[in-house]
Amino acid sequence: MRKKQFKAESKKLLDLMIHSIYTNKEIFLRELISNASDAIDKLYYLSLTDRKVKLDKKDFKIHLEFNKEERTITITDNGIGMTKEELEENLGTIAQSGTELFRLEQEKKKDIDVIGQFGVGFYSAFMVADKVSVLSKKYGEEKAYLWESDGSDGYTLEEGKYEEVGTKITLVLKEDTEEENYSEYLEQYRLTTIVRKYSNYITYPITMMIKNSKLKEGSVDEYEEVIEEETLNSMIPIWKKPKNEVKEEDYHHFYTDTYHDYENPECVITSSVEGMCSYKALLFIPSHTPYDYYTKEYEKGLSLYSNGVLIMERCDKLLPDYFSFVKGLVDSEDISLNISREVLQEDHQVTLIAKSIESKIKKELESMLENDREKYEKFFKNFGMQLKFGVYNDFGMHKDTLKDLIMFYSSKDEKLTTLKEYVSRMKKDQKDIYYVCGDSISKINTLPQVEAVKEKDYEILYLTEYVDEFALQILMEYDSKKFVNISSDDFNLDSEEDKKKIEEKNKKSEALFKEMVSALDNEIKEVRFTSKLKNHPVCISTKGNISVEMEKVMKQMPTDEKVTSEKILEINESHPIAKKLEKLYKEDKEMLSKYSKILYAQARLIEGLDVENPSEVTDMLCDIISK
Ligand code: ADP
Repeated sequence: MRKKQFKAESKKLLDLMIHSIYTNKEIFLRELISNASDAIDKLYYLSLTDRKVKLDKKDFKIHLEFNKEERTITITDNGIGMTKEELEENLGTIAQSGTELFRLEQEKKKDIDVIGQFGVGFYSAFMVADKVSVLSKKYGEEKAYLWESDGSDGYTLEEGKYEEVGTKITLVLKEDTEEENYSEYLEQYRLTTIVRKYSNYITYPITMMIKNSKLKEGSVDEYEEVIEEETLNSMIPIWKKPKNEVKEEDYHHFYTDTYHDYENPECVITSSVEGMCSYKALLFIPSHTPYDYYTKEYEKGLSLYSNGVLIMERCDKLLPDYFSFVKGLVDSEDISLNISREVLQEDHQVTLIAKSIESKIKKELESMLENDREKYEKFFKNFGMQLKFGVYNDFGMHKDTLKDLIMFYSSKDEKLTTLKEYVSRMKKDQKDIYYVCGDSISKINTLPQVEAVKEKDYEILYLTEYVDEFALQILMEYDSKKFVNISSDDFNLDSEEDKKKIEEKNKKSEALFKEMVSALDNEIKEVRFTSKLKNHPVCISTKGNISVEMEKVMKQMPTDEKVTSEKILEINESHPIAKKLEKLYKEDKEMLSKYSKILYAQARLIEGLDVENPSEVTDMLCDIISK
């Protein structure tokens, strides 16, 4: 029979599996059992939703067999089965999880050991087998089909003989080599151990014929060998077990298996609530940001079970957007099994559970922040931005929930700080919370206005994410202390007396400033002298609500509307440039115009803004320095 070729991507994954040096090859069994369990879920679900399908949950099972002589392992399930087309499509094409594996491999982020914790699925059988055959009959169909492959050069697909509904997968194990002992998978003890390790909570029985020695009937010392079918797994879902009976690593196993993550979760949250609405929840915070987390493709939600039976895979209503990074499940007896998705969205019980879960997550994060700072900071680096979006979104509706969970970089030790901590460190004479925005901490540190404030020993929040400033503006204040941008034009730490002095000086130079503003084509609102710059000659400050950073953000948004900040060019009154400008105003207006342009360009560059006419400015600069 003609062999069909695998699709290119599948071939790559197969090669990876066949030549895998991965030591943890035993996970092939977990993958096949989990597929079998999914297939039964599908048929069981059908029986719940379609009255014509009469099936009893008790009759479902996954059966394991092994044969030492033939070197085979067989996994049989009486699940939904596959049609010819489905065999072709599902086993000839790489699955989603495989794509993710390639991505990681390409990024060389993780080595190939990732396989072990990944759901790479069906193909993992080729880590231990030379040949795999899949015999399957779809529920409701007449014919069965046989898919066979030795991995390396394609597969065959033909009609097969199978009386049952479901799927039977047979692996012919590879011959042992010096490094690998594949025969170990033909031992009863080894197989039962693997099943209990990875598949203990599969909700259908996983059975095997087990050889036991038993006392002969009527005898006290004579044993006989009996072979009986035994169920290997405990079947009780992990979240239904009392917490003290479950080891941390069991939760971790459950997490990595269920959510196809290659790292253990940062945090496991369990919750068991009795009352108005009773439910059990098992929640996880991942220890890294999922690659698609900050994209539209990411879907939040928790799996919803009704007394152990999955009724919705991803119920988004159970999680607020700002906690969308949480993964996990909720099991409640108060939710009816046959509830439709549309009704679920409106369901009062679901709303109550969602509220309760939200407060549970919040408490957990608060206690992490208080008791394990390092862990919290790691969490925050992964998902903090989402919390800040949460403050800002919905017109600040959730800002009170979140304000104590967010952190910002601070000039103090350049570490993350909460607002509460900042306030507790404020100097006696300090009324407001100071912040400044910039692309990075190092860039912020070079901003002229920062130096002077630090010099006076005030702490400044360094806002480096674009959402930071939006979040602060929505918060407006914390502990009755306003947030003040030290780049805003009215920010001034001078004494009243000094302020007056500058004001007078500025008044005297009004004509000069006017000349400069017009030289700059009115691009700026105002020019003035300032005493807030220590050693630097110029800076830009802004008037009103729109800062330079916001202007940068808005510029990247796909709207036609031009939003610009109202800029003021501030010149250090004690810098020699101040005198020079006065002089030029009297003696050389043309040169004054050039100077204005150069100074303004300089101030823009410091702020990380671009210069509109770089060649004009650099030519002018060159003219001056070559004189
Ligand atoms: P994944 O499970 O990640 O989708 P797999 O490669 O393990 O990837 O399986 C591919 C698909 O093949 C599954 O999604 C399922 O539709 C089908 N499949 C695999 N095993 C079985 C089975 N025992 N019964 C029915 N369908 C199966």
